[in-house]
Amino acid sequence: MPTIIQLDNVHKAYTLGQITTPVLHGISLTITTGEFVAIVGPSGNGKSTLLNLLTGIDRPCQGQVQVNGAALHKLKEEQLSKWRGANVGIVFQFFQLLPSLNLLQNIQLPMDFVGKLPKRERLERARYLLNLVGLDAQAKQLPGQVSGGQQQRAAIARALANDPALIVADEPTGNLDTATANAVFELFSTLQQQGKTLVMVTHNEELAQSASRRIAIHAGRIHQDSLHSE
Ligand code: ADP
Repeated sequence: MPTIIQLDNVHKAYTLGQITTPVLHGISLTITTGEFVAIVGPSGNGKSTLLNLLTGIDRPCQGQVQVNGAALHKLKEEQLSKWRGANVGIVFQFFQLLPSLNLLQNIQLPMDFVGKLPKRERLERARYLLNLVGLDAQAKQLPGQVSGGQQQRAAIARALANDPALIVADEPTGNLDTATANAVFELFSTLQQQGKTLVMVTHNEELAQSASRRIAIHAGRIHQDSLHSE
């Protein structure tokens, strides 16, 4: 399988005023298409920072970040947001659906932003994705009118809107009860079976063990990297 993510000696520090806080210290990492990677480690050790580099939300201070054929460390802000919309689906802990749009409209929004699909096909795809995550009946509901688990499934459908090769999730089950978290994890596993690559930060060790690979980050370095067989 081809490589989808390649990080070479990536360093990241945040500077606020006079103070520079180093966060990532020379991360090198290769992820192959079709892997389901769980990133674990204590809070404040650089997991979200690492995800933000993979999505081009943030830039490395040093080193190279290649994702799905693009050298993200070289792209300008505007190129990055276009690239991100077409290549990555992002799922957050607190869903971040737009509260004034119904679920169907929330899922259509990234398609309007990227414009990959003709307009008339977008509604149809949004309906297809809602069906995929089991939310047909809630299509016209606002996010505030459905449960947390349903909001997270809608957020996953939204992440799939532009059919990205890569899905990145930051604590996607952190705000869900165990049964709902398991259902969301199952949905990720199904996406992996369909050939998607998934990278998920999680505190849930059980879910991390069920992913195909578990990477532990400690103090901004890869502390452990283990592959799990099926
Ligand atoms: P984790 O995801 O493992 O909890 P983070 O990547 O969120 O860790 O944070 C790692 C460190 O970087 C923390 O000390 C955090 O305070 C700091 N940090 C993260 N984002 C920023 C930022 N935008 N500006 C300054 N410091 C930041």
